[in-house]
Amino acid sequence: MALIPFDKRDGKIWFNNEIINWKDAKLHVLSHGLHYGSCVFEGLRVYDGDIFKLDEHTERLFYSANRMGIKIPYTKNQINEASIEIVKTQKVLNGYVRPVVWRGSEMMAISAQKNTTYTAIATWDWGKYFDPKLLAEGIRLMTANWRRPHPNSIPWDTKAAGLYMICTLSKHEAESKGFNDALMLDQQGHIAEATGANIFFQDKNGELHTPIPDSFLDGITRRCIIEIAISKKVKVHERKILPEEMSNFEGCFLTGTAAEVTPVSQIDNYKFRITDLIKNLSETYLNLVRKRKEVA
Ligand code: PMP
Repeated sequence: MALIPFDKRDGKIWFNNEIINWKDAKLHVLSHGLHYGSCVFEGLRVYDGDIFKLDEHTERLFYSANRMGIKIPYTKNQINEASIEIVKTQKVLNGYVRPVVWRGSEMMAISAQKNTTYTAIATWDWGKYFDPKLLAEGIRLMTANWRRPHPNSIPWDTKAAGLYMICTLSKHEAESKGFNDALMLDQQGHIAEATGANIFFQDKNGELHTPIPDSFLDGITRRCIIEIAISKKVKVHERKILPEEMSNFEGCFLTGTAAEVTPVSQIDNYKFRITDLIKNLSETYLNLVRKRKEVA
């Protein structure tokens, strides 16, 4: 099946407080957001017609914008309502929601004090982030050459567009070498995260280890999985983790709105198995997002 590019699809997009035709949701080539990365966004999932953790994502959108000095000209409530409205208009039952905020064209140099802020929310049907066939066997990662930026070099705890340059570079490199994604280290060489998801490891005692989010996004899914694990009396260690420690771990998985719980079978030469705990956390998460009762 030929893929329809995102700018050629039919439907509606919420754009500056109006519902407009999908194909008309455009920005000019001379937009500050495009040239200078003054753009923040969010990624949410819709399950059975409901947006999962809408409040948390809207909160983070405003946090990201604020950290970038961008003032969103709507209230959080308006963005929540607009997100719900566009999901209904588009009749998305299981899919993705992408709010995006960017600076316009009044000034086209570094300073953007007078620029208009644009806000749009698009939504579409969507399945798994990684090929579902891979989910059963676990994805393979390679360590990226690019590292997460030092926390004093960029607003690292946001979903700002500019932070994704190195993620795309790293993911492309990994894919060109036959891997599915890249593992990124922080400035000191500790394990940080994947290119669009957080990472967890399981040790031989069934305890979980995950890096402290001090130079990368503290994912909403990450926090949710920590809560689920604790409720199941599984110990979670948030700490600095060195790459060499991977030889001691039995299991590994990624978490993210898009990635959900994705088992990892290999990072460089380290191999992991899909443990019962990983399967159980994944199942519990998928029950939670669909508001289904826990089976086991
Ligand atoms: N890290 C990065 C770089 C991401 O893009 C994402 C996806 N938003 C995550 C982590 C996971 O965050 P969340 O669970 O909030 O989707």
